[in-house]
Amino acid sequence: MNADSNNKDYSKAERIKIHQPDAGKADRFNPRNRIYVRAVDGLWSKLRRRMGWVAMLFFLILPWLPWGDRQAVWFNLAEQKFHIFGLTIWPQDLTLLAALFMIAAFGLFFVTTYLGRVWCGYTCPQTVWTFIFIWFEEKLEGPRNKRIKMDQMPWNFDKTWRKTAKHASWLLISFLTATTFVSYFVPTRELYLDVLTLNASGGVYFWVIFFTFATYGNAGWMREIMCIHMCPYARFQAAMFDKNTFIVGYDATRGETRGPRSRKADPKEMGLGDCIDCDLCVQVCPTGIDIRNGMQYECINCGACIDACDQTMDRMGYAKGLISYTTENKLEGKQEKVMRPKLVGYGVVLTAMVLVFVGLVATISPLRIDVIRDRNALYRQDSRGLIENTFTLKILNKTEVSHVYRLSVEGLPNYRWIGEQTVSVNAGEVLTLPVSVAVDPVELKRPITKINIRVVAEDVPEVEAVQETRFFGP
Ligand code: SF4
Ligand code: SF4
Repeated sequence: MNADSNNKDYSKAERIKIHQPDAGKADRFNPRNRIYVRAVDGLWSKLRRRMGWVAMLFFLILPWLPWGDRQAVWFNLAEQKFHIFGLTIWPQDLTLLAALFMIAAFGLFFVTTYLGRVWCGYTCPQTVWTFIFIWFEEKLEGPRNKRIKMDQMPWNFDKTWRKTAKHASWLLISFLTATTFVSYFVPTRELYLDVLTLNASGGVYFWVIFFTFATYGNAGWMREIMCIHMCPYARFQAAMFDKNTFIVGYDATRGETRGPRSRKADPKEMGLGDCIDCDLCVQVCPTGIDIRNGMQYECINCGACIDACDQTMDRMGYAKGLISYTTENKLEGKQEKVMRPKLVGYGVVLTAMVLVFVGLVATISPLRIDVIRDRNALYRQDSRGLIENTFTLKILNKTEVSHVYRLSVEGLPNYRWIGEQTVSVNAGEVLTLPVSVAVDPVELKRPITKINIRVVAEDVPEVEAVQETRFFGP
């Protein structure tokens, strides 16, 4: 007896063709080979759903959080400033962004070496949104077998309204996703007001429409095609795996020989293992693979097949864990090893990058000065015989309030400042200031003197910046 009575309308060959396009070497881009994912409940599915909702809520709420008179997280491309709560990253702070990307990269390497593709299975937006779309599909079109039948039926009222409601809900979520994503770059309140009152710019409409259809296409139609054929991470993740990496694995020693049997039958007497060949693990798989065929690069470590198999084991009265999070070494009956050179290496680099990042953030200066020497003349002598050098100063106020700054020169005794020495710079403004510095030639010990130009905020003296330059003389 097959334990999955829902499948009685389909032969084994048909089920394999429907759920396992690879088994028949089917073209995954052909909509006729689409995977009908069966919903499953269980420990890992609950965890994935909860993490998905938390990630989704975080994504939706973040652009609405205020920070002073702006939004807390705002990537202001027009002014080339990234605001993340109290931190403002300028193009001049690119090292900070580079450190952040390296932390993300090494964090991913570390987690992948240790836990396999859990990023893909639990937190990747492609997976999170796909499972949200599947949830709506299930609620509006019914369980998987009903959906298969519905797709084979001619159009009628019931099919039309269900399909329309499903696509409308997908489009609504996609629109919300797109608008939220754009609101990280355009102030949120204005964005919603402008979009809803049709007053937004052409660029804003373009990106909202683009991301709406990108989300709808990816999570509604492309689904596993993105993970298997387009995501570069799927290609290089194998390089990070080793025999101690946690993967989703099928215990073939315990499961084989697979085969259907009644609940009361003794599998040992029948020469069978614990796998009753119910195919549930294949039906719930979002990438349509059969984990019993061994480790495959399509597997995103989502754990749905574990939940499905555990339900079957429960129903049959067998111990859970025929499919589980395990390691290749454990499956082969060998000793597992957590601390290994690759994992430790990634951990050390990750820790170092986090420390570098914290150091960079702690020492980030709210003020910057760039000094550009006059390229036309190294120096000139004025009517009083003083040697004069000309510079263009660029003073960047990286704070969110305007400040008055005082300028001075270090390393040049008895100099004369020619030009404005006290300037006011607005929040986020770059002030360009042409100035000259003059000195009596007797003060110059050599033709080129190293000097520092210092700028200090008058109201906050600890806010200062220094730039080294050269003073040329005869
Ligand atoms: S094989 Fe299991 S863990 Fe891997 S993608 Fe399919 S359902 Fe998820
Ligand atoms: S591994 Fe588990 S879920 Fe998959 S066919 Fe066998 S018994 Fe069913």
